[in-house]
Amino acid sequence: MDNMFPKTADVVIIGGGVMGASTAYHLALRGQKNILLLEKDEFFGQEATGRCAGGVRYQFSTEINVRLSLKSLPMLERFKEETGQEINFRRCGYLFVLTQPEDVKTFQHSLALQQGLGVKTEWLSPDEIHRRLPLMRFEDALAGSYNPQDGLVDPNSVVMGYIGAAQRLGVQCLTNVEVTGIQVAAGRIAAVDTNQGRISTRQVVNAAGPWAGLIGQMAGVAIPIVPLRRQIMTTTPLPEVPQDFPFVLDFAQSLYFHREGEGILTGMSNSNEKAGFDQTVDNAFEMVNLEAAIARMPCLEKASMLSHWAGLYEVTPDAHPIYGIAPVDGFYIVAGFSGHGFMHGPISGKLMTECILDGKFLSLDVSVLDLARFSEGRQIREYNVV
Ligand SMILES: Cc1cc2nc3c(=O)[nH]c(=O)nc-3n(C[C@H](O)[C@H](O)[C@H](O)COP(=O)(O)OP(=O)(O)OC[C@H]3O[C@@H](n4cnc5c(N)ncnc54)[C@H](O)[C@@H]3O)c2cc1C
Repeated sequence: MDNMFPKTADVVIIGGGVMGASTAYHLALRGQKNILLLEKDEFFGQEATGRCAGGVRYQFSTEINVRLSLKSLPMLERFKEETGQEINFRRCGYLFVLTQPEDVKTFQHSLALQQGLGVKTEWLSPDEIHRRLPLMRFEDALAGSYNPQDGLVDPNSVVMGYIGAAQRLGVQCLTNVEVTGIQVAAGRIAAVDTNQGRISTRQVVNAAGPWAGLIGQMAGVAIPIVPLRRQIMTTTPLPEVPQDFPFVLDFAQSLYFHREGEGILTGMSNSNEKAGFDQTVDNAFEMVNLEAAIARMPCLEKASMLSHWAGLYEVTPDAHPIYGIAPVDGFYIVAGFSGHGFMHGPISGKLMTECILDGKFLSLDVSVLDLARFSEGRQIREYNVV
């Protein structure tokens, strides 16, 4: 490894999750040479991306997030055509069930925003929710927001599809390489230090997901991204759950359900979770999730737990990602997707490519999502965070 380990690169991408993989592929597609993607783990896509629920949706409350979905989801639809990799896109729809009057009001605004941008989200009455979800108990439902184009995609396939396609275009993608430091000289990137040695480079892309803040510190750049544990469990088969069961969200409880294999996947966000890198399952909170899930979906009592895991959200103060160049020349950031970034991976890699090669975002103007917005008080809040 010592002799083979690259000493220089034109672009070093830190992180082999969906953001790093998509950026590597899109950069190489545009003809960028000498790209190096570094992943600290033994395999690509094992952190936030590999632990995510795989949901993809158009239903957001801010225009920029809806527009990101309008660009990104069609890229997932064309993914196999483009990369040769099957990603199992299931258009099961997302059904947000609303039980609080203030949520109804906000979702009505979001519905108008989405429909104005051409997204075909539908408004459901309580009766319609009961009709569509006969296995669930939602007596307190006030309304629902449903989009049949939302759905599920296999995260690992997306990462491996991009990594494979990037490698075929000449990108060197290395695992077991941990970035330990970043050298800055005269205000610009000079080198990246790793557990395998130093790599001279003038351009670094920080695609380190929940670790993006630590990578920022290495370059002397404060990036307000905190890791927050979230967990999921799946059940053994439940034959009564229909094939077309939607991705159901009990929005007020941050509790969700979707079909996974022959059973159900459920997750719930712990509002008391403290920032940190712990990825062990919190058994006490798992019981809270399970009880809330059974209260909504009593047939879960008949199933056993098949698997469970925890992962990290990469959370910014306004629940929107950070795109673009940092105060250090040659240091780029694509991170901080706050729990809904998997679905925006495809367009994000393309946008970062435009930022690096063209000096501006061409596919969609995401300049409002720059790092400076936090110090300049330009945050925009996303309401549909699960
Ligand atoms: C439980 C859970 C459910 C979720 N559900 C959804 C969902 O349904 N839909 C959706 O769109 N999003 C969802 N998300 C969010 C989504 O997973 C993330 O927004 C997205 O995967 C972020 O991708 P990333 O590439 O930025 O991060 P990651 O996938 O974490 O990739 C970053 C990579 O950088 C590597 N790295 C870090 N530090 C270093 C270093 N020093 N040197 C080398 N490599 C390093 C890490 O090992 C990691 O592989 C969920 C997340 C979780 C945790």
